[in-house]
Amino acid sequence: MDRAAATKMSILANELARMAGPACRETVLAATKRWEEKIRERVRLEMALKLADDSGAGRQVQRVAVVISDGLPKALLAHERDLTEELAEIAGMFRPDLLSFKEAAAALQLLLGRLGGLDPKWSEREKLEVPKIVELESLTAELLELAGHATFTKKLKMIDEDILGAYFPLGNKPKGGGPPVIEIYWTVIGAVAKAIQVDVEGLTLTVLTHELAHAYSHLGADTDGNRWADHAFCVSEVFIKEGIAQYYTDKVVGWFQQRNLAAPSSAYTALLRIQSPPYNIHKEWLEQFSPEIVRAALVECRNNHVTKTEEFIELMNMAKHRLGRRSRLQDTLFLESDS
Ligand SMILES: [Zn+2]
Repeated sequence: MDRAAATKMSILANELARMAGPACRETVLAATKRWEEKIRERVRLEMALKLADDSGAGRQVQRVAVVISDGLPKALLAHERDLTEELAEIAGMFRPDLLSFKEAAAALQLLLGRLGGLDPKWSEREKLEVPKIVELESLTAELLELAGHATFTKKLKMIDEDILGAYFPLGNKPKGGGPPVIEIYWTVIGAVAKAIQVDVEGLTLTVLTHELAHAYSHLGADTDGNRWADHAFCVSEVFIKEGIAQYYTDKVVGWFQQRNLAAPSSAYTALLRIQSPPYNIHKEWLEQFSPEIVRAALVECRNNHVTKTEEFIELMNMAKHRLGRRSRLQDTLFLESDS
């Protein structure tokens, strides 16, 4: 990144941080601290893959750290110019503030009216001040109209990469290397949470689950100790990688919801609406394929270095056929032993 681009990025990062609000970083950090272990456990159980491999003679443990980053994902780089230079986009980032100002201005007039009704001195002030507030209200309406033309969420829908967090299978150094790591972008989470009106904690848990699902699908060992080879994982099509991560994210947010924690599920559902097709393909899979089928296809995909989406879907169809036959056979055996 050249120097000018770096400056622009920091403008965008600052802008998103301002939109996210001063408490956002702390909220994202606290939610991660509180739930990371539980989410790891849920992903491990749903996928039946674990980072510690006990199948061989020596125990081998893969590690993946989670870090909260002040930076921005590289996928947003392509949009930094529009987001920091186009008038509508800039106004769009202030939309939540403009909306609260609109409410505050109405409250201010109400307050002056109440005071003015009881005290002649305030009645004079009211006559003097209300026209100024009305003027600001019309300015706010004009800016909201401009903000209405912002395309921030439409831009997000065109991005086929993770932007709220990211999983770096080969470490996050520019030239690769280092242990695998997950970065969580709190400024983007905070800004998107405001834009789609969801809870920051709920969105953080959704993002954390999605990134951990990437990590476990890649590094988790099956009962034979097999993992997804680095190269095959990296070159597999985005629909496979994102489909798998989203399939398991759906399961984990569902688990939270069953325990009366609805925020992750609400955030996940709202986020789906502004995400690109690779982040939505799993909705068909959820209807057609049980976790057992997806897991069987995932293990085969990893063992056979499958990288094409159609081939992965074929693996799920084959597993469905095989497992369906097996369960019908089991039903028959049960019926026979019952009789
Ligand atoms: Zn992803």
